[in-house]
Amino acid sequence: MSENIQVTCSFCSRNKQDTEILIAGANAHICSACIEQAFNIVEEDSKSTSAKTNDFKLLKPIEIKSHLDDFVIGQDFAKKVMSVAVYNHYKRISQIDTSDDDVEIEKSNIIMVGRTGTGKTLLARSIAKLLNVPFCIADATVLTEAGYVGEDVESILSRLLQAADYDVEKAKIGIVFIDEIDKIARKRDNPSITRDVSGEGVQQAMLKLLEGTIVNVPPQGGRKHPDQKMIALDTKDILFISGGAFDGVEKHIATRLNTRSIGFKTDQENKLDGANLLQYISPQDLKSFGLIPELIGRMPIVTYLEPLDRNALKLILTQPKNAITKQYIKLFDLDGVKLTFDKKAIELIVDKALEFELGARGLRSICEAVMLDAMYEYPSEKNKKELVISSSYVIKKLSILKLKKLKVA
Ligand code: ADP
Repeated sequence: MSENIQVTCSFCSRNKQDTEILIAGANAHICSACIEQAFNIVEEDSKSTSAKTNDFKLLKPIEIKSHLDDFVIGQDFAKKVMSVAVYNHYKRISQIDTSDDDVEIEKSNIIMVGRTGTGKTLLARSIAKLLNVPFCIADATVLTEAGYVGEDVESILSRLLQAADYDVEKAKIGIVFIDEIDKIARKRDNPSITRDVSGEGVQQAMLKLLEGTIVNVPPQGGRKHPDQKMIALDTKDILFISGGAFDGVEKHIATRLNTRSIGFKTDQENKLDGANLLQYISPQDLKSFGLIPELIGRMPIVTYLEPLDRNALKLILTQPKNAITKQYIKLFDLDGVKLTFDKKAIELIVDKALEFELGARGLRSICEAVMLDAMYEYPSEKNKKELVISSSYVIKKLSILKLKKLKVA
């Protein structure tokens, strides 16, 4: 009698003769078409869940530091501190904790203290690139408390979402670099009675974001409109790295260390003392500078970047994987021109950057000024196949240009 029963796929009801394969289970059958469809569903699903953690590469601190060495000159201490902090952060979020020991690894947001142009942004950006996580930069000076003119603190997250191509799972583990965090310090050590919209108010507004909260983010940034579709983003696994020059923080360090505040009289001494004192920076000094204790508490890792000396600037021009001079050499090479930079020319460019206090940021502007004419003319010159940038070439090109124009604000 059972022989007369038509065998069909239990999922799509196809008859046996309409399928390529029909596999029998305990009480059911499945056809090859349904197996294929089920496989695709499972694969799609596992792809989207693995995007959360497995898409980024979790590297060991030594590996992170060694990668940073390829792109960032000097700053060994900062690189080491950052490598450890970043490793711990991503380890914390990529592991499912099954232990019941009540030990909870806290989030390790970071504050970097160092003069402008010493590599703070470069460090944060290089780490994000290495780990393959979305990265965005937010300028603390344009942020205001919600309700005031300016950008809401949440607008930072719109940018991160954008960097993640609106993939919420990716944005959730991204890195946000908050630049100029020192500019939102409150002006005096004692809390003021009047409201401080741009300083302490912003610090207060940032607290929840840094710690971890679910924020409804307007996808296109800007102000929230009542009828705008929002994207919910949890910030608990986002790594916030903030940076600032904290001009004058050395005085607070000196006071804390109970050293006499000598050396702040002349520029030369100021520079020397500043360079030496920054290495003792502690959360307490940031508090004296004007960051509120709650904010400092949510960015527990504090590190510093050294001012770049002559040698460092020279190396920056020539050593990193994408060093400025290497970029010009490649550009010219693409046009079949062999470009070389004379040692003396490099020294001269560094001299100019130091003379005009342009720092590392100015190296590119000076190089652009030096290279402009050649970049303009060489692509049309069929017979010129070689160009040597000598010190006299640099002098000639820079003399036409008013270098002061290059000065970075
Ligand atoms: P900051 O954020 O500290 O103001 P940036 O990281 O934006 O400085 O540095 C500006 C530019 O100067 C970078 O894009 C990079 O080309 C160069 N630079 C600065 N510091 C370094 C460094 N330590 N190593 C290599 N390049 C550097």
